[in-house]
Parts: sequence; C-alpha cells; structure tokens
Amino acid sequence: MLLSRFLNNGFRVWKMTDSKQGIGMTSLRVRERLVQRLRETGIRDERVLAQIAAVPRHWFVDEALATRAYEDTALPIGYEQTVSQPWIVARMSEALLSEAEIGKVLELGTGSGYQTAVLAGLFQEVYSIERIRPLHERAQRTLRQLGLRNLRLRYGDGLEGWPEAAPFAAILITAAVHHIPLVLQEQLMLGGRLIAPRISERGQELIQIVREDSTQFKETSLGPVLFVRSRKGVE
Ligand code: SAH
Repeated sequence: MLLSRFLNNGFRVWKMTDSKQGIGMTSLRVRERLVQRLRETGIRDERVLAQIAAVPRHWFVDEALATRAYEDTALPIGYEQTVSQPWIVARMSEALLSEAEIGKVLELGTGSGYQTAVLAGLFQEVYSIERIRPLHERAQRTLRQLGLRNLRLRYGDGLEGWPEAAPFAAILITAAVHHIPLVLQEQLMLGGRLIAPRISERGQELIQIVREDSTQFKETSLGPVLFVRSRKGVE
C-alpha cells in the first residue's frame, strides 16, 4: 500500500527509466541488499523497510558518490552537512511511527531531502525546513523530480517550527541540538512524538519525547548517535 502510494506519486517512472548517474536498474537490487542489512541490524517496521527499498538514495548525493549511496553510511552533501546513514533514517522513522498517527510530520533539517522522501511514503503530509538556501533548493528539485506531492519545503530556521501547520503527529530534528525547544514540543498533537539528537557532556543521544497531555511531555533515550550540529538563523 505504501509502496503503491509512491508508485502513484510517480516512482513508477524512475523505476523504468532510471539511468540517472549511471546506476540504472541495478539500484533496485542494491537497495534490496541494503534493506536486508537493515533487517539484520534490528530494523523491524515493514513500512519503513518498504520505503528504504523504494527511495533512490543515489538521487540525493553528488554523482561522484552515487556508487556509495547504498552503503549504510552517512555521505557529504556539501556545506559541511551530510545525508544521514540509512540505518539512522530507518530507526528514526520507525520511532516516529510507533503509535503515532500518520497525519502530518515536521522535519527540521531537509538537507539532501532523502529522509523527507522516506517520510513522504509514511505520513500523509510532510513539512520540512532547511536553513541553507542551496540545499533547500536542491532538495526541492530532487523531490519534485521524484513526483512527490504530499510535502512542503521551507527555507528558514526550523528551531521555530511551522506554527501555521501545527499540530503535528510527529516532529523529527535531523541536526544535533543542545535543548529541544519548547516551542517545537508545543507544536505536537496530544500523543504525538518528537525525535531529536541531543548534545550532552557524554556525546549525543537520540531522545524521544511524547506529548502526554497539554503540559506533560515524557522523555526517553533511544541510545547514542552522531549528527551534524544544528545552527540558528539562516545562511
Ligand atoms: N535529513 C537530512 C540530514 C541533513 S544534516 C538528509 O536526509 O539529508 C542536517 C541538516 O539540518 C543540514 O542540512 C543543516 O543545514 C540543517 N539544519 C541545521 N540547523 C537547522 C535549523 N536551525 N533549521 C533548519 N535546518 C537546520
């Protein structure tokens, strides 16, 4: 069903004609190998695995790195930023989905747009904000070429959230923060969850926050991670 949503969104087109960056039809097989690897390393949610199988990650990196796009590793996307490792993209998507409604999701840090594309197959609507203009513009082009329509991208500081589109069933921060701004937590619907890498003295930890009622937020740690750091304002 989720895969067919992607196909309806236009993914069928690239499946048949994908010669971009010289990877061609083989990318499907390489993606399946990546999915197998994610299964072996603890990713269980079939909806998420179907998205990893469907989204052509090599579209989101520079041509010179395309052959490495299906390794389970973070890759540079310019401007000192990286596209996250597939395992972490899958893990965060899984955490956002469990129990959450599949309504609207807000992503802070569009970067390459890869995680955005994965979310677009899992949620009804995706809102994503990026503070570096050339990355925002490139992600917009790539996501448009993929024919994804259930998403909106914005150039700006994501730490302020997207109040006009709130409340969200889920919020994902894809750059490390010292504090999770309350203004973002307050854009969650009741029962909604926020996932963010938070910086502490011991390093970074992936934090999950569930909004239990209008003033109660329950926090749990999902373990150590390593992300590029978030920055205020825009570039
Ligand atoms: N989800 C991305 C990961 C990109 S890395 C992907 O799949 O490619 C994190 C991104 O967060 C970077 O592009 C960085 O510019 C952006 N970022 C950092 N601080 C931000 C902020 N305050 N608002 C919006 N984007 C931010």
